[in-house]
Formats: sequence, C-alpha cells, structure tokens
Amino acid sequence: MTTDVNCIFCKIVAGSIPSRKVYEDNEIYAFHDINPWAPVHFLIIPKAHIVSLAHVDSQHQALLGRIMTLAPQLALQEGAGAYPEGGFRLVSNTGKEGGQEVHHLHFHVMGGPRPWLRG
Ligand code: 5GP
Ligand code: ZN
Repeated sequence: MTTDVNCIFCKIVAGSIPSRKVYEDNEIYAFHDINPWAPVHFLIIPKAHIVSLAHVDSQHQALLGRIMTLAPQLALQEGAGAYPEGGFRLVSNTGKEGGQEVHHLHFHVMGGPRPWLRG
C-alpha cells in the first residue's frame, strides 16, 4: 500500500497520530474531524496515500464506490438524522482553489441539527 511518511493522514492510519475512529476496514478508515463545523463531522479516507480526487483513475472505482456506500450508513451511525428531514453533506476539497489543506484524499461527512458553524 502506498504511504507518505510526511502525510498527517497516513500517520493517522498508522496510529502514530491518535484519532477518534468511526469505521475501519482493510482499505478505508473514518475518523472524527479535529475541528468540526457541524454536530456530526467526520472524514472518510482510503488507507492508501492518494493525493486528491484529481488523482483517481479507473483502478479506484471500487474503492470510491465503497466510500460512497459507507457515507450514508456512517452518517446515520454518528447521529445525522434520516432523509429527508435529516441528511448530510459529502465534500471532497480538491486542490488549492478547491480549499484542500491535507493532501491525502478525504471525504468530509457533515450533518446534524442546524445551525452549523460553517456551511
Ligand atoms: P481539507 O481542507 O483538506 O478538506 O480538510 C482537512 C480536514 O482535516 C480539516 O477539516 C481539519 O480539521 C482536519 N484535520 C487536520 N489535521 C487533523 C488531525 O490531526 N486530526 C483530525 N482528526 N483531523 C484533522
Ligand atoms: Zn497520506
């Protein structure tokens, strides 16, 4: 599996930086955002170091499909309300203009009662 020794999310996957786990399997890790904008705010990441959504190709289709399928399940598990009154937001900031700060592919899942701090 590809890892980057200088990457903060690779360190979280390796356990050398602690995190509050939401979900884990052999290729995916999910954990609470350290600086939440919403009552529910966690990140879903591939364990492999993929830089951004601009770096995915056809070999990642199954992985991305699994992340998309997990997002609504984990949102409910973590306390987001059910559709349509509840729901959640799924965001992947990509590149500088996309607002990406950590360059390891991640999907923000945000939900819970309004108002939120941002968004
Ligand atoms: P980006 O702007 O790259 O989409 O978002 C990166 C997210 O990672 C931010 O929401 C930030 O709060 C979160 N984050 C950065 N460093 C850490 C960390 O060490 N632990 C956790 N749990 N979240 C982090
Ligand atoms: Zn990484």
